[in-house]
Amino acid sequence: MLKKILSAERCAECKGCCVFECYDIFETPIFSAENRNFILEKNPRAVFSKKDKGYVFVPQDPDSDGLFGCPALSENGCILGDSKPFECRIFPYKIMNLDGRLVIAISPCCEEIYKRPLSELVAFLKSGLSEKIFSYALTHPEIVTPYSESCPILLVGDFL
Ligand code: SF4
Ligand code: SF4
Repeated sequence: MLKKILSAERCAECKGCCVFECYDIFETPIFSAENRNFILEKNPRAVFSKKDKGYVFVPQDPDSDGLFGCPALSENGCILGDSKPFECRIFPYKIMNLDGRLVIAISPCCEEIYKRPLSELVAFLKSGLSEKIFSYALTHPEIVTPYSESCPILLVGDFL
């Protein structure tokens, strides 16, 4: 979804948003049953628990840096390709709830995108992406996270 501004090759090299620390483990993606089954075929050691209408992975052994990798992460990047969860497809854009209102913000965790001018990031949203994000969030509220002040707001949408 962000291919015009972020290459799959760059993400495969970075993998930054596919590993989690203890404090942000609540932000792991929500997988569909199809995602979960596909991951289990490739990675039978993965463990999932039910969350909302989907599944989240259960963090197991951290690596030597104390990080927990997503079970869909491989040496070559995400094994789910274009079928990855919606919130992964729009990252580092994030859909958040600010006092009952939907906002699209940008995560500072992605150095590749965060260093771009905010005007460029807003223009890309306005080229059609924001409508898709707001519309998806209204039918899938489980992807909406509480607003965090570390994420600059780019666009404000409707009340929930
Ligand atoms: S942090 Fe940014 S560049 Fe790195 S994998 Fe995530 S979206 Fe791609
Ligand atoms: S589903 Fe894919 S893109 Fe999303 S966190 Fe896991 S490895 Fe990364």
